[in-house]
Amino acid sequence: MSPLFQEPLKHLKRFFMGKPCISCKTRATEPYHNLCPSCAKNIILVKNQKDICPRCHDTWFKNGLCPNCQGRELHWDKLHTVFSYKDSLMKNLFYLYKFKNSLPAEKDLVLLLKEHLKEFQDYHFIIAPCGESTKKRLGFNPVTRIIAQLGFSYSEPLEKVKKSLNIKTLGGESRKQQLGNIICTQSISKEILEGKSLLVDDIFTTGSTLNQASLALKEQGFSYITCLCFLRS
Ligand SMILES: [Zn+2]
Ligand SMILES: [Zn+2]
Repeated sequence: MSPLFQEPLKHLKRFFMGKPCISCKTRATEPYHNLCPSCAKNIILVKNQKDICPRCHDTWFKNGLCPNCQGRELHWDKLHTVFSYKDSLMKNLFYLYKFKNSLPAEKDLVLLLKEHLKEFQDYHFIIAPCGESTKKRLGFNPVTRIIAQLGFSYSEPLEKVKKSLNIKTLGGESRKQQLGNIICTQSISKEILEGKSLLVDDIFTTGSTLNQASLALKEQGFSYITCLCFLRS
């Protein structure tokens, strides 16, 4: 077939055979797979939300830290979150990506995030470790796949360990480390320690993973931890 017809034909095929937008049901989803450009424009961004705690981005109608952050030892210093889990489209897309292992949903997330993570182009991304069950089910960390597709520099020095194992192997070390179940298994280069870096996870729920991961990184010499989560629940 003439290449002249190939492109329009691809669009036509996609229009009639592709899945409709999960939010408005239109079939014109290009360049996305599960959503349309118009719904993509209306996704709720955390940065546009008022009344949130500056530290954990939870809804909080007063100035300063929310009660949860006030009564807690926090090891991260700054948080960036992009999309809100309160947005039903994002909630559905995230479900497809994380629990259905949907490649089209993953591609959509990459495309959406590309737009919103431009300011971090020259950062090094440290991937937060995912849970045992996720890794076992998928065989990989889904956050790593997204960061790799976005073309960012990244590393995976952190690991989640079972608590009993943790206490055994870290018996001689600090009490703080024994309390956490995330450890650093690789040494961090001076370049990463002194450069711009982000600790990244897909969803911020209680912040427990990021808090433990931040502590593990601070024990390696980081003085300031900036976290990035694709979604705030
Ligand atoms: Zn739509
Ligand atoms: Zn808070």
